[in-house]
Amino acid sequence: MKNPLSALIAVFKKKELEKAVQSQVEVVTPAQTPTTLPTSPGLDEHSSPLDEMKSNFVSIAAHELRTPLTSIKGYLSVYMNDYKDKLDEDQKSLLGHISNATEELLGLVENLLNVSRIERGAMNLNLAEVNWDEVLKGVADDFNERAGQKNIQLKFVQSVGLPPIKVDKVRVLEVISNLVSNAINYTNPGGTVQIWAEKGSDNDIVTHVADNGQGIPADAIPNLFTKFYRVTQGLTQGNTNSEGNGLGLYISKAIVDMHHGKIWVESEVGRGSRFSFSLPLGL
Ligand code: ADP
Repeated sequence: MKNPLSALIAVFKKKELEKAVQSQVEVVTPAQTPTTLPTSPGLDEHSSPLDEMKSNFVSIAAHELRTPLTSIKGYLSVYMNDYKDKLDEDQKSLLGHISNATEELLGLVENLLNVSRIERGAMNLNLAEVNWDEVLKGVADDFNERAGQKNIQLKFVQSVGLPPIKVDKVRVLEVISNLVSNAINYTNPGGTVQIWAEKGSDNDIVTHVADNGQGIPADAIPNLFTKFYRVTQGLTQGNTNSEGNGLGLYISKAIVDMHHGKIWVESEVGRGSRFSFSLPLGL
């Protein structure tokens, strides 16, 4: 039988943790952006207090991690810039690894904050009219260097006569960036990634990100947009470039859902994938 004293200590610790989390919760304020659409659905009525505690804890931990990580990134960048003529190749390579690892950690922290916002219903949309082709071209330009480093051709195909569309630009940029980043990650050197948009048949704009990379097995597709899901077979597992965390597509779907759009994928193992999402006109 369990020692009653240790059981009592466990209960006490749980209460202390609850108190600590409660006292911290007030500190975490959701993003204060003007709302023009309902917030994300958040934890549903079936979620337990433990789920809420977990979500709050993740949010607090991610907030606390973001500030020092941003400082490390900033100081590192200043140091690498100021000392670039004095550092030898080994030192540069070492600092490059530190910088990449910091970027990766910051990416994870941002993703965890987004998941927490989605689950707490605290992700709001700040809608404004944009030129969609310009948005896509901007993302393609941003990823050009990274694609080139992996010898992947990144093509942006301009569309003709797309109407302006109202979106939360910051959030939809996350969606396109996730898709383009994945397409580069899961395509081998020599491959091609294409980005384009077209007017859909449902008074919407449909955007596509297509690659001729490793593709996704049919049985994995239904799980792709769920939290922390990663395909664990074939090239994905052995691909050392893909240090992902399985949150990008979950967050992307939540953002597209909030815009009342849809996201889907067509894929064939060994031939490539085409991720598409629609965003309605006239929001
Ligand atoms: P992450 O890439 O961080 O693991 P995501 O949620 O963005 O997380 O993607 C989930 C999984 O879907 C990935 O781990 C990968 O297995 C698979 N995937 C996503 N995009 C592609 C793609 N373009 N080609 C092949 N597999 C992909």
